[in-house]
Amino acid sequence: MPATTYKNLIGGEWVTARTGSTFQNLSPANHDDVIGIFQASGAKDVDAAVTAAAEAFKSWRLVPAPKRAEILYRTGELLTRRKEQYAREMTREMGKVLSETRGDVQEAIDTAYYMAGEGRRLFGQTTPSELQNKFAMSVRMPVGVIGMIAPWNFPMAIPSWKLFPALVCGNTCVIKPAEDTPLSTFNLVQTLIDAGLPPGVVNIVTGFGPDAGAPLVEHPGVRAVSFTGSSEVGRIIGQTAAGLFKPCSLEMGGKNAMIVLDDANLDLALDGAVWGAFGTTGQRCTATSRIIVQKGVVKEFTKRLVERAKALKIGDGLDESIQMGPQVNEQQIETSARYCEIARKEGAKLLTGGRRPARGAFGRGTFFEPTVFGGVKPQMRIAQEEVFGPVVSVLECRSFDEALEIANGIQYGLSTALYSRDVNHAFKAMRDLEAGITYINAPTIGAEVHLPFGGVKQTGNGHREGGTGALDFYTTWKSVYVDYSDKLQ
Ligand code: NAD
Repeated sequence: MPATTYKNLIGGEWVTARTGSTFQNLSPANHDDVIGIFQASGAKDVDAAVTAAAEAFKSWRLVPAPKRAEILYRTGELLTRRKEQYAREMTREMGKVLSETRGDVQEAIDTAYYMAGEGRRLFGQTTPSELQNKFAMSVRMPVGVIGMIAPWNFPMAIPSWKLFPALVCGNTCVIKPAEDTPLSTFNLVQTLIDAGLPPGVVNIVTGFGPDAGAPLVEHPGVRAVSFTGSSEVGRIIGQTAAGLFKPCSLEMGGKNAMIVLDDANLDLALDGAVWGAFGTTGQRCTATSRIIVQKGVVKEFTKRLVERAKALKIGDGLDESIQMGPQVNEQQIETSARYCEIARKEGAKLLTGGRRPARGAFGRGTFFEPTVFGGVKPQMRIAQEEVFGPVVSVLECRSFDEALEIANGIQYGLSTALYSRDVNHAFKAMRDLEAGITYINAPTIGAEVHLPFGGVKQTGNGHREGGTGALDFYTTWKSVYVDYSDKLQ
């Protein structure tokens, strides 16, 4: 069968890129299965998409928020019906196992319903005026055209975290999906259209970061930018946006710590460590990548973690028995291998994994073995820098206080977890861990859409996705004074 060609979506029309260039995506599980051919867009395509979004904004902002919300509600219903199909397509395009891609689509469904509810809230505030016969209030206004740039690891959930709150607030959007996973964005936006979204309200421009992402950030018609991805790219985007005085939400990398104290339920902690470190093949911004274990249990914990890592069944995520799929592309494999080499040179002890599995077993898929390093010291690069692969480090600590110090001794601050039965330690961890998210006796992964999601330090710039935090980014406050005295005061 010839590969399907996907076009950009601009003003409700499917159009080829003005660059005349395309790129082809293959499944990371085998490099045979063609996912599709996508447009390699440039600045002119971005310009056309922003112009269409600006035109659509004129009428979309006037649609009552409860009516906009109805479209999101129907989107949630349609996604529920299409969940299995979209999950399978996501596993083919991105590699993570079916149980996880079902979760990814479910996250979009949950976000649709949650944000649909906001259409009947979007609360403003009333406040007393200084004067008699004067009414004072603040109301949420849409921002305008929002530029959205997404990563590949949650190809439907993350675009939904951006699109749904932006839409319910009355904005129009131009989204550039990650080059590895555009298909899931097409599926999401097609569902919005089927649910009744008018033309031009959401536009898709596919392509590579510097060619299609950068012009979106720079475009004068884009009033705010929402970016999720690496800190490296986030820094570039943040600097450009700052120069243009453009609001910009940056959600970036993590180096997430899980602390296991002597009194922890070890079975629970091991399970949390395995799914935190190797779920999504370690390619989560919230992945557990440092496990800080207290002296009394470190030996037993490490031994059992290595056994569990060795027992994981890896392969094509479309097979329901598979527990860990491939990494998304060759570059990610190279990064994992490079960090394993760095860790060895720094003196960390490789306990299992650290390489690609024998090629024969997995064809040309981009697989990497679940990897555990022991004897890791806090200042080693393997304990400081994001790998974004199935590579986890075990660090030993003597006390809870030392564990906190190690956990906080990094530039990132996204997710953290504490395993302990001591309620005092639990509350101190909640207060003292420098992170946007802290789990007690649960792994570093697993966000719920009605809570704020994001990090501190170099993980983010203070904005939050999910919860009402998202509404703060996608609206701007207007103060309104109504004088009903009919005379000079
Ligand atoms: P990436 O930064 O390489 O790419 C992200 C997006 O930015 C892609 O769409 C890419 O095309 C685009 N891009 C690249 N260069 C650009 C440029 N110069 N201008 C504009 N756009 C550009 O990240 P990735 O590899 O897709 O995703 C992995 C990273 O994302 C990891 O660091 C991970 O921690 C992070 N992430 C963070 C969160 C979070 O919420 N904190 C969630 C998921 C992933």
